[in-house]
Formats: sequence, C-alpha cells, structure tokens
Amino acid sequence: MLTDLAEQLRTRESAGLKRRRITTESRQNAHITIDGCSYLAFCDNDYLGLANHPQLIEAVCEGARRYGVGAGASHLISGHSSAHHALESALASFTGFPRALLFSTGYMANAGVVTALIGRIDALFADKLNHASLNDAALCSSIKLARYPHLDLIALEKQLASSQARRKLVMTDAVFSMDGDIAPVPKLLALCDKYDAWLLIDDAHGFGVLGRQGRGVASHFNLSSPRIIYMATLGKAAGVFGAFVAGQVEIIEFLIQSARSYIYTTATPPLLSHALLRSLSLIEQEEWRRERLSQLIMQFQRGLQSMRWKLLPSKSPIQPLIIGSNDEALQLSESLRERGIMVPAIRPPTVPKGTARLRVSLSASHSKEDVDQLLSALRQLDSVYESPR
Ligand SMILES: *Cc1c(COP(=O)(O)O)cnc(C)c1O
Repeated sequence: MLTDLAEQLRTRESAGLKRRRITTESRQNAHITIDGCSYLAFCDNDYLGLANHPQLIEAVCEGARRYGVGAGASHLISGHSSAHHALESALASFTGFPRALLFSTGYMANAGVVTALIGRIDALFADKLNHASLNDAALCSSIKLARYPHLDLIALEKQLASSQARRKLVMTDAVFSMDGDIAPVPKLLALCDKYDAWLLIDDAHGFGVLGRQGRGVASHFNLSSPRIIYMATLGKAAGVFGAFVAGQVEIIEFLIQSARSYIYTTATPPLLSHALLRSLSLIEQEEWRRERLSQLIMQFQRGLQSMRWKLLPSKSPIQPLIIGSNDEALQLSESLRERGIMVPAIRPPTVPKGTARLRVSLSASHSKEDVDQLLSALRQLDSVYESPR
C-alpha cells in the first residue's frame, strides 16, 4: 500500500494537483502571518470580518467561564446545553423558519438531512456545481443522484417530471462556493411546487451576507415556503464554527430522531453557541460590514475590467478569476505570494477540469487600500503574462 500511495502522490504532484497546507501563525484576518512574514490575504470565508471580533473573543471567554470547555456528551445524552438551545431559537427567528437544529459542521448537517429524509425509494436532484458535502451526503444515503448542468432548470424539470419517486429532494448551493453566483431560488421553488419536491438550500456563503440584516438567501429573494429545508454554516460569515438546519417543526423533530451525524457525535462546546448569539446580533446590527463588502466587490470588479482575466458573473464576495490551466493558476498564485499577497489557486477536482482559478474572497476586514494593492499586483502580472507565447 505504501508504495502505491507514494506513486499516486507523485502522479498528483506532476499534474500540478498536489495540495499543500499553509500554516498560519496569526489570527484570521485581512493580514495573516506565515513563516514569520505578513501577507495580505484574500483566502478566507470570514466575509464580515467577525472571526477576530473583540466582542466574540470576550463572549468565548465568558462562555468558557459559564459552561466550561467541552460539551462532554452528545445532544441526546447530556450535551445539549441552554446555550445551544438559545442559539437554535435565535437562528430560527432570525432566518424566519419555525425551528432550527445545530450541527457540528455544515458537512455533517448536509449528510444528516439527506440520509435522514431520503431513502431508497426516493430521489435526489443536484446542481453539478454544488459543494462536495452535498454530493457526499448523497453517497452516504446510497441513493442515485441526478445531477443537472449548472443552473439548468430545463434539465432539472425533465428529471423531476420523469421521476416516480416517493420523495424528491432538490439540493442546491445558494451562493456557489467556487463561482460566487446565486442560485435562482424562486424558480427552483416553483419547480418544487409543481412536482411536489423539497428544496434543500445550502446557504453557507449567503448567511450573514445576503438579505435584510444578513438573514440569508430566503430573505434576499423574499421567500418563505414549507418546502424549504435551509442549511447554513456558522464558521464563515458568522465568524465562529458550526452549522444549522432550519425548517418545519416535523422536519427538525425527525432530524433529532434520526440524523446520524447529529446523534452519534459530541455536541460542540457550548461556549461557541454563547459566542454565536453575540455574533448573530453583530450580523443583525452592523450593516456597515455588508455595505463595505459591496463597495469592495464593486471596486474589485471595476479594477479588473481592463485586465485579461475573466471574472465570473458574481455579485458575492467570492470573486473567481478563471485561469484555465492548473500550472498557470498555481504560478499566478505563487507570483502574488512573492508580492506579499495570498490568493488560493483552486484546481480540479474542486472545480471542473480546465477551469482552474484564483478564488479571491473579499471581506469587510479588507480596506479599499488592500483591494487597490491586489489590483495593482494583478495589473503588473497581467503585463508580464501577456508576452506572446
Ligand atoms: C463550507 C461549506 C460547507 C461545509 O461547511 P462546514 O461547516 O465548513 O463543514 C457546506 N456547503 C458549502 C456550500 C460550503 O461552502
């Protein structure tokens, strides 16, 4: 096995696909320290700049003093604390759903929903560019997944129309994690209504960012429907850790009874829920963070117009620069790093072959000057790379 693994690792390396971790020595912020050097970073999903907020740090300390460090048990034994409970109520009312249920991670939340609600006689439909956790959730439930081309509602409708399944569940990212575009949720919901299907919306990148006071994609489109099963993560814009599912009472109650990734795992430290309550009020109250973010997005898009690289049509803080080849994406990322700027190169299999990209992610913790610095580095590189080949 070891020889075989070493061989596979070499193959990856020569295809420009070997992944390497960087080790950061600082807090998550617009500026991070790696190997003692400071970099301007456009890598994280901390869109509102809360991961490092003094009030959240204080709330974590207060939470630790009140609840200790570990939950000590799973939710169904004795790990469900009043902090978890209060956060679930707050999340339900913030997102406008009757109930909410905390999960340890978004990955586990998606697996929990799909495996609990969908069985062998049911059917799953998924956008081809959905996050890996939704695809893996389908794998866990060993149900055949019908994937439709990205945003192709005509293809989805054909699949729905020809399905005889007992239950149908359509799964979609709300904001696509590597492209930054927003799913046409009202149209998806209309199809679900027409074909009596359920809609699982993964709002990992919309919660806190989209909608009135950051209430997420449902608020962004002014939608409410009992067919929606809403999932969002708490480690991105909310700046902490965890995830939740929100929806109708029956759904949440059923998940408590049967979502294995909810039942068979230790509850997250209650101190995190305590901090998340604070985070939720910052999300709600500090509108300037979302305003700053949209200004930075506009600034970045305007700055790139004169350059060779194409941006995808994204209005979200995820701004991908499509490069194409793995090597060129890596090289560009490396050249930016030499200029003190971290932007990750995203390669297959995370994105489709031939669409390797730089995934620039903007945050309210960036300043206008930070974005200017990125733009001017890209401008320099644009002129270098433009030499004829
Ligand atoms: C990050 C992400 C997840 C996973 O959430 P975690 O809490 O990090 O496990 C799920 N779906 C999407 C679209 C994501 O971007």
